[in-house]
Amino acid sequence: MKLFNTLTRKKEEFKPLKEGIVTMYNCGPTVYWYAHIGNFRAYIFADVLRRYLEYKDYKVNQVMNITDVGHMTSNADEGEDKMEVAAKKEGKTPKEIAEFYTNAFIEDWKILNLEEPIKRPKASEHIKDMLNTVQILLDKGYAYEANGSVYFEISKFPEYGKLSHNTMKDLKVGAGGRVEKNSDKKNQLDFALWINDDKHLMNWKSPWSEKGYPGWHLECSVMANKYLGKTIDIKTGGVDNIFPHHECEIAQSEAANDVPYSKYYIHTRHLIIDGKKMSKSVGNFYTIKDLIKRGRSPKAIRYLLLSAHYRSQLNLTEESLDSAEKTVTNLLNFIGRIQETKIEERYNDDLKEKINEVKLRFENSMDDDLNVPEALSAIFDLISETNKAIDEKKINKNNLDEVYEAMMKFDKVLGILEHKKEKIPKVVLDLANKREEARQNKNWKEADKIRDEIKTLGYIIDDSSSGPRLKKV
Ligand code: AMP
Ligand code: ZN
Repeated sequence: MKLFNTLTRKKEEFKPLKEGIVTMYNCGPTVYWYAHIGNFRAYIFADVLRRYLEYKDYKVNQVMNITDVGHMTSNADEGEDKMEVAAKKEGKTPKEIAEFYTNAFIEDWKILNLEEPIKRPKASEHIKDMLNTVQILLDKGYAYEANGSVYFEISKFPEYGKLSHNTMKDLKVGAGGRVEKNSDKKNQLDFALWINDDKHLMNWKSPWSEKGYPGWHLECSVMANKYLGKTIDIKTGGVDNIFPHHECEIAQSEAANDVPYSKYYIHTRHLIIDGKKMSKSVGNFYTIKDLIKRGRSPKAIRYLLLSAHYRSQLNLTEESLDSAEKTVTNLLNFIGRIQETKIEERYNDDLKEKINEVKLRFENSMDDDLNVPEALSAIFDLISETNKAIDEKKINKNNLDEVYEAMMKFDKVLGILEHKKEKIPKVVLDLANKREEARQNKNWKEADKIRDEIKTLGYIIDDSSSGPRLKKV
């Protein structure tokens, strides 16, 4: 399997540090507001990557943090803490804000059918670990204290810039435009590890000042080290995380531990809307619930977000949502069709061959830097061949079971269908048979009565052209 590594700017063969086990850290949300669907593009990418690694029989230890302190409005050191801005705006404490939006985030996570990570560490619960790392960096001479704050001195870490491919010269030019100079910093490019601020609502005592809080970059690298080790296999985030966030994480972690921070850095391109990046600060965003309220189904939202290659831009439009909705309906109808078809013809060897070919294409595409669009096109090919075989009555139960099994295996990665062969309770089946009998006898009143009874048990009967079908309400 090959993955595009931002660090080397190459597709590289994926080989985890330990055979059979993958450690992956995904930069998670800052919980000052609802996550928007652009954020979920990054998370769903991580989810599909994890699911595909599991498909390949790796055990995946996935960690995604919750940022509840220290993420400034500028993404660097300037501005205000996003959590505190929200707290003031909503008249709540930062803790209340964090709790509310963390719960909303997890709800959306479940609605979109993402797998649970092994841990969702909260930054505010890891202050001690962060203070330890800051002390190590001070002791090793990578950091300095000024007026109760502590900064990482980037000139002490010559590899600074290796992820974003920025040279010190580029960075200096970039920093030139800053409005305010921080006179505590030796170099304006140095970044804060610990910030002395007695007005900050969330504050902790440290060896350097009475009241302070950690820098956002520090949080992620400390939690990644704590739960996954000093070197992890995969680090992910959106492209906006490359610099400064991940660049600074590398500097801190590698300076403190003397080993590489992560083997692979994988970044998702942005979801755009009307040609602009969807972002909370610009206000051009949709949350998951916004879209659901507008009648969009979670399956279609998930499908849309995963269907484009993660390194290409994805433009959200009403048309793209319509088309995702249509595709998901077709996929679900197809599963319904193969479950219901009752044709007992000769076993179709060609269809078996098709399944094998499609499996191979699916795997080759996914192995090629997670090329989901190609993998999907292989699946659609299987669907059209199967439909053709059904239409031509060149199929039997074994073929249908094999197609179903293949589709479910693909869906372990996609997480769209999850149309488990659910057993309909016997009492419901018996009632359905009784109703059918009543209908045959033209006893409509009795048939309607039984239909209502079935409904109270959580099932509805859909009288399709191929006979009655039971569906869960
Ligand atoms: P934030 O809550 O802003 O820290 O963002 C959380 C994650 O979502 C990060 O990995 C970001 O890179 C990613 N992200 C933010 N906006 C977008 C977008 N429009 N499209 C894709 N990913 C995004
Ligand atoms: Zn992070």
